[in-house]
Amino acid sequence: MKAAVYYGIRDVRVEEAEKPKADRGEAVLRILRCAVCGTDKRIFLHGQKNVVPPAITGHEIVGVVHEIGEGVTGLEVGSRVICAAVVGCGECIYCRREQYNLCESFTALGYEYPGGFAEFMKVPAKAVAQGSIIRIPDDLSSDHAALIEPLSCVLNGQECVDAQPGDRALVFGAGPIGLMHAGVLKARGCEPVMVADVAAERLEFVKQLGVGTPIHTTTADPVEQILNATGGEKFDCVITAGSVKAVQDYAIRLARKKARISFFAGIPKDDPILPIDTNNIHYNELCVFGVFASNMKHYRQAAEMVARGDLPADKFVTHKFKLDDINKAYETIEAGHGVKIVIDCE
Ligand SMILES: [Zn+2]
Ligand SMILES: [Zn+2]
Repeated sequence: MKAAVYYGIRDVRVEEAEKPKADRGEAVLRILRCAVCGTDKRIFLHGQKNVVPPAITGHEIVGVVHEIGEGVTGLEVGSRVICAAVVGCGECIYCRREQYNLCESFTALGYEYPGGFAEFMKVPAKAVAQGSIIRIPDDLSSDHAALIEPLSCVLNGQECVDAQPGDRALVFGAGPIGLMHAGVLKARGCEPVMVADVAAERLEFVKQLGVGTPIHTTTADPVEQILNATGGEKFDCVITAGSVKAVQDYAIRLARKKARISFFAGIPKDDPILPIDTNNIHYNELCVFGVFASNMKHYRQAAEMVARGDLPADKFVTHKFKLDDINKAYETIEAGHGVKIVIDCE
């Protein structure tokens, strides 16, 4: 089969690779689409410990069930599906609670296991048993279905936020994930949905996608700037979707009483300590949440949302490249262009 093999930093080669076979408990998918994630970009530009070359990355997967191993039930060859990236160990306390994204020895497709930038991909037995393969509606386009994985993470990130119609919402970061957060907040009836970013060109997408009101932050501490723009009004829902430490402090300072704040983006691991005024959290009854990846139920919810058309999916998919041209996709994403870039693996 054809696959995009990652050999190291800035070295991805499209070449022949061995087509996987489904052993007992496993399944093989024929890949239709696989979207490029921010972490794929990070692996391409900087490498990542749990991706050992040669490796096939890609975890935002849409495919067709191609082969089913012995003992697998509930799957049908020919079904169009998405596949969750997370592969839990199946044994730790979190896996026993079906919180596979919190697994003590967390692994994932496209990282430790070969991923979706290929014509075929094996789904390990553990993942099959965990219900990772989820059927999608016939009328949902494969391009749009490639949004389900990132959207599942966004939905996990908003579960604790519990946005209500009429809530004032603020998202920090107009990258693909920040824009998706804004789209979900809008679909849930928040008003206004503001998206703050230092990069004016990213904010163009806020308008293009119609997911909220852009706010271009230009000062070192943008809290005053944002409050000036809102006439002093703070927010009920605040989401940090940019890996800048200070943003977590801004989020707390811009929160209304009883606000819910989601620390969606991680911050650099070598510099994670941040002084914050915790009395803000105490007296204003703020809820501050952390989230990581997503779980099976979020994939199912995301599939429903995309199928219902809650997001302008067509506008989110700004670029599509054939698997042969995957390096063009990396160039595009490195240049900071586009929202979601989808690889067509057919
Ligand atoms: Zn992703
Ligand atoms: Zn586990």
